[in-house]
Amino acid sequence: MLWVPHAVAWCAGLPEERASKIALSVVAGRTSSPGSFRVGGRAGRFGGTVEERRVRAARGTGLSCKGWGQEAALRMLMNNLDAEVAERPDDLVVYGGTGRAARSWAAFDAIVACLRDLEGDETLLVQSGKPVGVCRTHEWAPRVLIANSNLVPEWATWDEFRRLEALGLTMYGQMTAGSWIYIGSQGILQGTYECFSAIAERRFGGTLAGTVTLTAGLGGMGGAQPLAVTMLGGVAICVEVDPERIERRIATRYLDTVASSVDEALRLAAEAKAERRPLSIGVCANAAGVVPALADRVGADSAIDIVTDQTSAHDPLSYVPHGLDLAAADELRRSDPDAYVERSRASMARHCAGMVAFLDAGAEVFDYGNSLRAEAQLGGFERAFAYPGFLPAYIRPLFCEGKGPFRWAALSGDPADIGATDRAVIDELGDNEALVRWLRLAEDRVAFQGLPARICWLGYGERDRIGLRFNEMVASGELQAPIVIGRDHLDSGSVASPYRETEAMADGSDAIADWPILNALLNTASGATWVSFHHGGGVGIGRSLHAGMVVVADGTDLAAAKLERVLTNDPGLGVLRHVDAGYDRAAAVARDHALPVPMAASPGSDAADLRPGDSSGP
Ligand code: NAD
Repeated sequence: MLWVPHAVAWCAGLPEERASKIALSVVAGRTSSPGSFRVGGRAGRFGGTVEERRVRAARGTGLSCKGWGQEAALRMLMNNLDAEVAERPDDLVVYGGTGRAARSWAAFDAIVACLRDLEGDETLLVQSGKPVGVCRTHEWAPRVLIANSNLVPEWATWDEFRRLEALGLTMYGQMTAGSWIYIGSQGILQGTYECFSAIAERRFGGTLAGTVTLTAGLGGMGGAQPLAVTMLGGVAICVEVDPERIERRIATRYLDTVASSVDEALRLAAEAKAERRPLSIGVCANAAGVVPALADRVGADSAIDIVTDQTSAHDPLSYVPHGLDLAAADELRRSDPDAYVERSRASMARHCAGMVAFLDAGAEVFDYGNSLRAEAQLGGFERAFAYPGFLPAYIRPLFCEGKGPFRWAALSGDPADIGATDRAVIDELGDNEALVRWLRLAEDRVAFQGLPARICWLGYGERDRIGLRFNEMVASGELQAPIVIGRDHLDSGSVASPYRETEAMADGSDAIADWPILNALLNTASGATWVSFHHGGGVGIGRSLHAGMVVVADGTDLAAAKLERVLTNDPGLGVLRHVDAGYDRAAAVARDHALPVPMAASPGSDAADLRPGDSSGP
């Protein structure tokens, strides 16, 4: 047994669990053989393999690199691994299962050293989290080019990926993990808010006030649902099988209250709905029992307006089957995984049938990207695909306008800089009510993780305007240091993902992956500060190809020229991708903005004749 007083001192002020982890790693980092430790009254064991590193991006205007492009990449890499930001920083895992920022700590150190030494006319090459070269380019070229998790299509399976990963040849980059632009759970909250906002707009007059949403799952993603619904004025009933998850959401203020029974949840929801008062209610139960039972009881009288689900249905070994408590589920999962999967799929069939019953009763029902429909179908429910996925249902019209998650971070580290940028966005785009409401609510409700950052959805014609305004604010000294601007890969023109971003394209082009490649090439040619090309983010290996970009507003004229091109061309490609697929809304956006479309379809033209199926689009 080792005592580690230095670790105790170092961890002062941190929660005990975190302090213990750090202590464990301190020990592991100094010894090569397994052993045990004791710190702060807690004992633990270590295997000599865990390595603890505390990483935090520098703040302020002092440079440790030879220019702001390199400094921005360095700070955002480090910010991704900040303990406030990353899920498992010790393992370099930022979020999303095993989405990493660098392949190993040795690779991380080498990237840091390369960035500190990199000239303003050089480009660092990163292959799946490992720096592999520094090349002479020019000042308009990206300072970093990143390729993550890419495999030749016939080899693109989880088994092959894991084999290569175990050999140390690759890493899983997820989306914004390996491209160094993750900003914490604000991104999840905002995406969920945007999705429910689109539903409010489409069906409920722009607000969820006076509506009840029934959903399930309060995990990492799903936990954003109650806050997103109440931000839009609505009532949410969230069914969750694990009481700890409910407690966690209450503690972080994402969930307002917990009901002791489904009946109590219904009563609280009905009262809040009648008063048009926002309220989110957790209830500890199994969704496969509650949802069909509620559909029988209240579906027909419209007490519930919107139904969706964010349980872990993508993995039948994670979803908890009806009739098992958590301990019994754990036991069956261990003792007989095949029987577990069978019960799980049967439960998902019931759960999904309940959702379809709500659909038949007139509720707004959608799949929230968790594969419940596919698993329910495997469980024997034939009408599983009666309701749509959220992307084609609500987000595609936004994609036609090049709209998507646009995010930025203040390299000063001062929240006041984000406050100033929030006000600038409201000043520029104040007639967009949903945007203004989000920015005001975010300022009030969202705690920053790592470098202060903001996210909101902007489209073609808006992003370049905002980017240039930020650059002017840096130049004038209104902002204390440069701003980093990037985006998610839930994006209109840079993703090929037939189960999500490109599900059910109007022309059937769901699996065409030329667009993300064009996106990466275009952003490289337009002056982005770093560009990445990934495989497998979001939906897993073999199922998606996607590209990322980041561009830095450092207040110079050169930055302004780059920002104008990148923030025009990046969303512009999203518009073009949807024009090409036959969406009328995208064609109108292209026309309104004089965006050239070489083979634009017009009635009777060859281009129109070439397209299969319905080219009118939604
Ligand atoms: P998670 O594993 O953190 O949480 C899932 C929650 O569901 C857990 O709290 C679990 O206790 C609960 N649960 C499981 N079975 C249940 C049941 N029968 N009844 C009630 N509760 C049950 O997962 P997450 O990160 O919150 O993600 C949720 C789902 O959304 C996953 O399937 C994920 O793949 C998917 N997802 C969607 C998107 C999107 O774009 N919409 C993006 C990423 C992930």
